[in-house]
Amino acid sequence: MNNRQEQTRTKWLEILDKYKYDANTPANDQIWSPRLECANRDELTNIQNAKLKVVTPFLYENSDFYKQRFDRLGLIPSDIQSSDDLHKWPVIDKKEMMEDVEKNPPYGNYCTIDENLWKERGWMLFSSSGSSGVPRVFRYSHVDRDLWEWANARAMYSFGIRSSDTVFLASGYGPHVFAWGVQYALQRMKVSCIPGGGMSTEMRANIINRFNPTVLCCTPSYALHLGRTMEEMGMVPSKSAIRMIFVGGEPAAGIINTRNRLKTLWGAEVREFYGCTEVSPHCGGYSCSHSEVSDDIVATHLMEDHQIWELVDPETLTSVEEGEKGITVCTSLNSESSPQLRFNIGDYTTFSYDKCGCGRTHVRAMGSFAGRADDLINLRGIKMYPTQLEQAIRAIPGVGDEYEILIEKNTSGLDIMTARVEHMNDITAQVVSEIKTRCEVTINAEVLKPGTLPKTEFKAKRIRDER
Ligand SMILES: [Zn+2]
Repeated sequence: MNNRQEQTRTKWLEILDKYKYDANTPANDQIWSPRLECANRDELTNIQNAKLKVVTPFLYENSDFYKQRFDRLGLIPSDIQSSDDLHKWPVIDKKEMMEDVEKNPPYGNYCTIDENLWKERGWMLFSSSGSSGVPRVFRYSHVDRDLWEWANARAMYSFGIRSSDTVFLASGYGPHVFAWGVQYALQRMKVSCIPGGGMSTEMRANIINRFNPTVLCCTPSYALHLGRTMEEMGMVPSKSAIRMIFVGGEPAAGIINTRNRLKTLWGAEVREFYGCTEVSPHCGGYSCSHSEVSDDIVATHLMEDHQIWELVDPETLTSVEEGEKGITVCTSLNSESSPQLRFNIGDYTTFSYDKCGCGRTHVRAMGSFAGRADDLINLRGIKMYPTQLEQAIRAIPGVGDEYEILIEKNTSGLDIMTARVEHMNDITAQVVSEIKTRCEVTINAEVLKPGTLPKTEFKAKRIRDER
């Protein structure tokens, strides 16, 4: 490592350390770090700018991907000193990251750590779920892990998880950053945990019955499947000790009919992590005690001392006004190995900077997240999100938790969509009508006997596009 590389790294690690308030224990019984979570707008901007000023030279000196991008754009690190300068830096998208990985396998060139330092720090390997294409692999150092443990602990404290709880993590414990991030944070929070990897759903049901965990952590699809399995086994999920369902990995809280299903089935509150592997190992968004703003609006805080969140127009990529709809762009400032400037996550939402009833000032995504721009379905020119289809299907009483949307071309070359759902009765007309009302599109429906469709064990694959 040369001098510039070392100097910029030292400064970056110092600034990360400087703002690591309440690193190991919560400051009070409501909020882990009020100095960060209840900071006013000026204080938050000051923290963000202090980090930005140091991270740009650090990225320039230590990441080939960033150095080349700065040079290509004709920018130098001092051009980006504050959040007001960020607009000079065009957003980075998944495609650009993928191209970097293809050119420089297996990890790409964007990390700020060379092989010697990786060895010195120690690392852990993770991969994306590969829901859209080939899974991507990521390494995070143990320095990163320390930062992400703290960030996730703060978020889970905001959910209301306390040391009196026992969390049951119904996850496979594969190389998925979500489960490990939760596991490590629980350790920091001194919260009891039952790891639920390598078990059948029946075994997990028995664990809940026998050991009385109070918080269930898994994907929303799996929480439904596990609850239904318990019912089939003669247990009543809502009478179990589970008081909170903590979900991640798929949109759920913002889809009110999914949220209500979970709440009714389990007689429990629903809390959610929101994030994206590219921008950080820890969560970006987190629920609080005041997440349910109204019957149909759920709000998610975004961790603003660690990240700078922007909403931009999907076409022009310029900022939208507060209250207007746009897609999420995140600058991530809480990692040694992979800070990011303006990564396009691409989830639609609207922002509110009003102070939340919980006392936190971190910006809120109102209505949570409607869906990622690249998941948008285009059927004969009509655009809709998978979350809108889910909201429509789950509005029908008695409809099974599993469903499938098949998109194909008919013999005349026209795109057609079929919703395959489960129900005891023929509800074809209702399915067609709900989807027509909410998505303004006419589709076909196929009603199957309950239990026909495969059960979701991890992340649901609901859209089958065969065009
Ligand atoms: Zn709040």
